[in-house]
Amino acid sequence: MRKKIVAGNWKMNLTLAQGEQLINDILQAGLKLEEGQEVVIATPFPYLLKAKALLKNYPGFYVAAQNCHSEKSGAFTGEVAAEMLQSIGVDYVILGHSERREYFQESNEMLARKIDQALANGIKPIFCCGEPLAIRQAESQNDYVAAQLAESLYHLTAEQFSQVVIAYEPIWAIGTGLTASAAQAQDMHAFIRSQIANKFGREAALHTTILYGGSAKPGNAAELFASPDVDGGLIGGASLVAADFVSIVTKL
Ligand code: PGA
Repeated sequence: MRKKIVAGNWKMNLTLAQGEQLINDILQAGLKLEEGQEVVIATPFPYLLKAKALLKNYPGFYVAAQNCHSEKSGAFTGEVAAEMLQSIGVDYVILGHSERREYFQESNEMLARKIDQALANGIKPIFCCGEPLAIRQAESQNDYVAAQLAESLYHLTAEQFSQVVIAYEPIWAIGTGLTASAAQAQDMHAFIRSQIANKFGREAALHTTILYGGSAKPGNAAELFASPDVDGGLIGGASLVAADFVSIVTKL
């Protein structure tokens, strides 16, 4: 009914040769994806074209960029526009990763414009949300995430929103080895789905893929993915090791 996705976020890691090797190793594992299951690989910009070519004959495998600019084109030295990504066949773009929010000052409002650029160019956004530790400790995570969703996504039409994948990534779990418990993930995913239902309707909410991210690995993926509202994962560190990534995909 809704897509299940495991997406690997390589972040700023690997050379071209290493990335090629990693993709080939993943493909050689001979994963059998079921109907409605997808594997997405988010490489650095310079490798997207190559990744796309390597995955060409593998149904269910897609490539993602890790960012795009909020404007259509112009004098933004060093930046990459969504239209450029579309022109090389990129399928998804990760937007609003907490590292981009923190180190590159990406606000909810700026992310709304990036979402618009992605959608205008037929690229599906993987929109990241999630709270820092202090917010979790104050038990305000629901309000925090609700505001992220509202400020970056609620200007969309239901049709536009149907192209969006959500990734819940509690910041305190990213790259820290601390994973949200399956119960914590399920609670937040159910909350996100309820917010989407309120805004875009129940059908839209039921069709929205909501991924969990934050120290997901082979040892905890099965438990996380077993929760009814967890539709897969956005995987950082473990996506750099073919055997680990493949193992996580088999837990979908
Ligand atoms: P991690 O990263 O799996 O290394 O915690 C997840 C992410 O940042 O998407």
